[in-house]
Amino acid sequence: IQSLFPTLRAGFRGDLFRPALIEASGAVLSYADLLARSGAMAAALLARGLKAGDRIVVQTSKSVDALLLYLAALRAGIVYVPLNPAHTRAELDYFLEDAEPGLFVDDAELARLAAAPVADFAEPALGPDDLAAILYTSGTTGRSKGALLSQGNLASNAATLIREWRFTEADRLIHALPIFHVHGLFVATHCVIGSGAAMLWQPGFDADAIVRALPDASVLMGVPTFYTRLLAKDGLTPDLCGNMRLFVSGSAPLSAETHREWQARTGHRILERYGMTETGMLSSNPYDGDRRAGSVGPPLPGVAIRIAGADADGVGGIEVKGPNVTRGYWRNAEKTAEAFTADGWFETGDLGRFDGDGYLWIVGRAKDLIISGGFNVYPAEVEAAIEVLDGVAEVAVIGAPHPDFGEGVVAVVVPRAGAEVSPHAVSDALRETLAAYKRPKTVLIRDALPRNAMGKVEKAVLRRELASAFD
Ligand code: ATP
Ligand code: MG
Repeated sequence: IQSLFPTLRAGFRGDLFRPALIEASGAVLSYADLLARSGAMAAALLARGLKAGDRIVVQTSKSVDALLLYLAALRAGIVYVPLNPAHTRAELDYFLEDAEPGLFVDDAELARLAAAPVADFAEPALGPDDLAAILYTSGTTGRSKGALLSQGNLASNAATLIREWRFTEADRLIHALPIFHVHGLFVATHCVIGSGAAMLWQPGFDADAIVRALPDASVLMGVPTFYTRLLAKDGLTPDLCGNMRLFVSGSAPLSAETHREWQARTGHRILERYGMTETGMLSSNPYDGDRRAGSVGPPLPGVAIRIAGADADGVGGIEVKGPNVTRGYWRNAEKTAEAFTADGWFETGDLGRFDGDGYLWIVGRAKDLIISGGFNVYPAEVEAAIEVLDGVAEVAVIGAPHPDFGEGVVAVVVPRAGAEVSPHAVSDALRETLAAYKRPKTVLIRDALPRNAMGKVEKAVLRRELASAFD
């Protein structure tokens, strides 16, 4: 394996005047521009006194310049540390203290770097073990941890995804994801640049803007909420998706219900994949062949996945190994030690099982497992049983302290627009589908679920709010 930028560059050799990125305004960034402008920014970073291995912490809005700064850092061997622009001042202080950057880049600083004149820039030779980026995890289960990602971690995963998902220079990917997270920063941009394709650049998620872009696009990558929100649009038809060849979903579980509805409305089966900040992508439903609603597919080539401590149903901890897996957390020897088994496998913190055909099914995070009356209840199974009920838009299932059972199952249900759902009807319907110990002891109806920037349900928030549900 090589370092990342040479891997990507090998994918866009040839005509450098074709578009790498097209903005809604029609403005085009060609591959020649991409090289010239990221090279100028790399030179500007070095002119600030930054050296290979130094870190830059970047907290900006989503912009083409921010993407170019990422490429500049990659080329210069400067470690890229992107942050969610929504972080408050106090949160930012934590990250600055933790990452100890040589430069902090906000929108004003980015404008200055982007204005740098074209300058000579000699790319240093970088190896696969050199650090490329530190990405902070989403903080769904606790304080965000900085995952160390090497050039080789990123390059190997990029090459695998380009091959597995059949990217070519004919592709046009709708880029509506944030670029401070693995999905939008690595998966989407590496697949495009590393195959010489083009991205249709959108500053954020806007269902109407995506509907407008679909006829000119061939690929969409999104989190599950993209798909549920797009399903609420009338214009979503097979015709609109006539040039599309691939819809990818990940970062959070896609419900089997959404998968089926999407197929009914567009004729396409969403390809769901599974990954995390620390590892990049781990498994993917097949490009050719059976995409199973509710499964995250078999392991990607080169990635090993095993289930540790499986119970009678084959459910256990998902552990992984491969050239894509982090060497550990930034300045956190304790969390690093905790994350690896004695024989060197990375513990994802997710629970799952393989079916007879080698497809992985995630049943939830270990931290979300509910133990009620001594029995294990996997939230994903209860959620799946509730999602299919009439009038239900979405649902989250958690455990709350219970005086008799240790924990009691709580379901928080969001009805579809205009629909009425009664807790009673939900409880009744589940009598036929779930064993008694798995059924919610309380069903709550809410307008929305708490979600973070990646559309992940914040179960820790629900657990705090509902801690006295059974008092
Ligand atoms: P933290 O580690 O800080 O608690 P996080 O785990 O949410 O936050 P990420 O690295 O962004 O941070 O997310 C990775 C997690 O997202 C996985 O461990 C898994 O729980 C979940 N995930 C990703 N893709 C899928 C998927 N297709 N289906 C179900 N869960 C998924
Ligand atoms: Mg995590």
